[in-house]
Amino acid sequence: GRCVVAVDGPSGSGKSTVSRRLAVDLGARYLDTGAMYRAITWAVLRSGVDLADAAAVGKVAGEVELRIGTDPRGYGVTVDGVGVDADIRGPEVTGAVSAVAAVPAVRTLLVARQRDMIAHAGRIVVEGRDIGSVVAPDADLKVYLTASEAARARRRSAEDAADVAATAADLARRDRLDSTRTVDPLRQSTDAVELDTTELGIDEVVARLRELLTE
Ligand code: C5P
Repeated sequence: GRCVVAVDGPSGSGKSTVSRRLAVDLGARYLDTGAMYRAITWAVLRSGVDLADAAAVGKVAGEVELRIGTDPRGYGVTVDGVGVDADIRGPEVTGAVSAVAAVPAVRTLLVARQRDMIAHAGRIVVEGRDIGSVVAPDADLKVYLTASEAARARRRSAEDAADVAATAADLARRDRLDSTRTVDPLRQSTDAVELDTTELGIDEVVARLRELLTE
């Protein structure tokens, strides 16, 4: 039957790894909403419009053709037919994504796309910042993953093969922008189950979520 799991939390909280694993275990689809904001950001950077020009950014977002797969074992992201999987993880996109994600027209567009994909999926694990609060408030399970700043920086720098101190500074900057923007800021919905993953391995977190689903 239908089953929607909403996984929110800041970067480095373990969201992506845990969400993909859970989706594989459940035989469910998986939607990485962060990748959608990153893909729009890639298109905005390519267009050369000023990031501070919300109207121009919104216009680019409305004109591009964004496609994203939902296979938890490997999904592709394309913008106007161009594969952007590697580029959207690079420093240019990471540096600009919070500004693009703060543009109301971008959020309206992507939230509608996300709701549509969820409605057609049946079983799906959706990860992001506003899934439990805005995109899928009626999700069957809402989880809010956290981890200490040190653990988050360590994980992200290992993934990106980057310097831990620089990664920590970038995470802090993005968290600040994501939680203080005026539309759909990163926040924990009151009915989300909070799980601190600082001391937990992936298997433990996934097992805990599966328990919560059967309760
Ligand atoms: O999860 P990830 O680090 O890929 O997300 C990149 C950025 O996209 C976040 O820093 C945030 O600005 C934005 N985002 C968002 N809402 C979501 C998912 C991501 O605003 N649901």
